[in-house]
Amino acid sequence: MGKIIAIANQKGGVGKTTTTINLAASLAALDRKVLLIDADPQANASSGLRIDITQKNISIYECLIGEASLREAIDTTCVSGLDIVCSHIDLVGAELELLNTANRERILLHLIEEVKAEYDYVLIDCMPSLGMITINALAAADSVIIPTQPHYLSAKGLELLLRSVSMVKRQINPKLRIDGILMTMVMPRTNISKEITATVKSAYGQKIKVFDTEIPHSIRAVEATAEGKSIFAYDKSGKVAAAYEQFGKEVAEIGEKQRNQNRTDRLR
Ligand code: ATP
Ligand code: MG
Repeated sequence: MGKIIAIANQKGGVGKTTTTINLAASLAALDRKVLLIDADPQANASSGLRIDITQKNISIYECLIGEASLREAIDTTCVSGLDIVCSHIDLVGAELELLNTANRERILLHLIEEVKAEYDYVLIDCMPSLGMITINALAAADSVIIPTQPHYLSAKGLELLLRSVSMVKRQINPKLRIDGILMTMVMPRTNISKEITATVKSAYGQKIKVFDTEIPHSIRAVEATAEGKSIFAYDKSGKVAAAYEQFGKEVAEIGEKQRNQNRTDRLR
């Protein structure tokens, strides 16, 4: 059974989409079968993998409003082992349209159930808000990865997200856990980066893992986004690719550990 991971932070521009695309590519390179679900109407992950969304008639939006199954919305990508469910600007409307739907927090969960067994990992790229679609992602997920930049305001915004995660855990999805906080766009030689990373670790490190891997800041990452490529396709031997490769291994290790733990629990 695939592990479902939501990549979430209501703060915009912290590297959620970049992390989702490159973690997906990194896991696929480790021979894991990966499905990326783009749950942001900006559709940056879809275009980040060079999918022409203007040519598509089935996106996550049609699935959420009950007009298509998730299987019908799955596309292959240029990355071997990585499939995608694209997004569309129409998804903005789904926030309102879902309001009158029964069990509206669990629609994505039920959609994913159909295909979950075919993947090792299902990664959900969330939008920068905590509305109904993001709640759906958290309700469907086994765990959350929280990318954050080493900026004062980003670190402050974590509090709000952690509160939402606790709320979803309490009311909708008791098995939801936080895999960890990922520091992105880190400028290793700057004091502010170091200070804030240390602050995040001392504020949350007791309860929440801060991943060993840090993603360095690099103009190459911005260029890869502009070209619609993963960092592995754009700058394979650069430091950002190396960091996401290491991050993929870290995430896979946690995944295997949890899988073994679940197996032992079932045998007891
Ligand atoms: P949103 O909240 O709008 O969905 P996001 O959290 O998904 O944003 P991204 O789109 O991944 O964030 O990244 C925001 C910008 O930062 C993009 O222009 C991206 O190219 C750039 N970026 C991402 N990672 C890095 C990095 N390691 N170094 C430099 N720039 C980066
Ligand atoms: Mg994004």
